[in-house]
Amino acid sequence: MTPTMNNHATTPKGVCFLGAGASVWAGAPTFSNFRRRTEEVYNKLPDISPEKEIFKRVLKHWEDDYNTSNIEEYYAAIEMLETLKFNSIKTDSDCITADNIVYVICTTIQKSIANYRKQNFYNHLTVILEDEIPDFIFITTNWDILLESTMDFRDGWVNYGGIPAYDNPSGQTEPNREYSILKLHGSLNWGFCKECGKIYYTDKTKCDILTSYEGLRCGKCQTKLEPAIIPPTSSKLAKAGANSKYAPLLPIWRSAFEHLKLCEKIYFIGYSLPETDIETKIFISNALKENSNLKEVVIISDQKYGYSRVDFEERYHSIISRIISNPKVKFIDEGFEEFCQKHPAIHRRSLSHL
Ligand SMILES: [Zn+2]
Repeated sequence: MTPTMNNHATTPKGVCFLGAGASVWAGAPTFSNFRRRTEEVYNKLPDISPEKEIFKRVLKHWEDDYNTSNIEEYYAAIEMLETLKFNSIKTDSDCITADNIVYVICTTIQKSIANYRKQNFYNHLTVILEDEIPDFIFITTNWDILLESTMDFRDGWVNYGGIPAYDNPSGQTEPNREYSILKLHGSLNWGFCKECGKIYYTDKTKCDILTSYEGLRCGKCQTKLEPAIIPPTSSKLAKAGANSKYAPLLPIWRSAFEHLKLCEKIYFIGYSLPETDIETKIFISNALKENSNLKEVVIISDQKYGYSRVDFEERYHSIISRIISNPKVKFIDEGFEEFCQKHPAIHRRSLSHL
């Protein structure tokens, strides 16, 4: 594959916006099955290990106190209590910290996608985008690093919108960074250093260490890095004060906003504009409202029926109807994998390989 992505000298003409549904092909958990996946991972962890103990405590607390909440709501609730300092009234042994939940989230995602054997659909997607809109950028709400990992991922290779590489924190001499991926909710391979007040990104191998029980230390000051994954339900931008792990996300959100405002074509893949993430919905809506270049919006999702289909399309229409350029809108509800397999660019590529 020859990446032909933007070099940021010009604004990409296409945006590919990925939501949780885009990673399901690789076994990534969804919000609705996250707890079951967490239980599966828990059952496979070695007995009498600190990892298993954290999983056990978090699963019990989640079930006892937040049974009707999905993982994002649960994480956001605990983070909010920590911010308000209510958690400190509990004894240490009872207290579930946001760090504990982050650890469980990271491990559940990592172990769920560790063994995928299927075709690599993000590779397909890149071929399709290069065929249709060679200048494009990815914006994603996903924490997993499937998109990066399925390409030729190495340090310095991905342009994360200003996040420096762990092995090259000054960012002065980073090699080719053809692919731009703006991760609005952070990423499994991003480690936040409280001392430096910075997020560094790692390659896949170091990501495994960063998200492990032992963790990874900052290359500059040796402080233990916190995985920088942000719960969508909380008010991300409001928390972006100095030395917060939210602060390095501000330029990423700004850049994503600019791209949404200027692009000519957008693919939304596996993104349902969930009500739990009202901030992202308003963000997308505000950016697109100002877009006078947009010609086409393509929305790829799983098959939906009846009310759920009407509701889904209505959520998109409420945003798209405000766009001044009056773009063409196409809903494709055959699923991401099916869309990739049927696309002419993929057929051409497979024929050329015969
Ligand atoms: Zn540091």
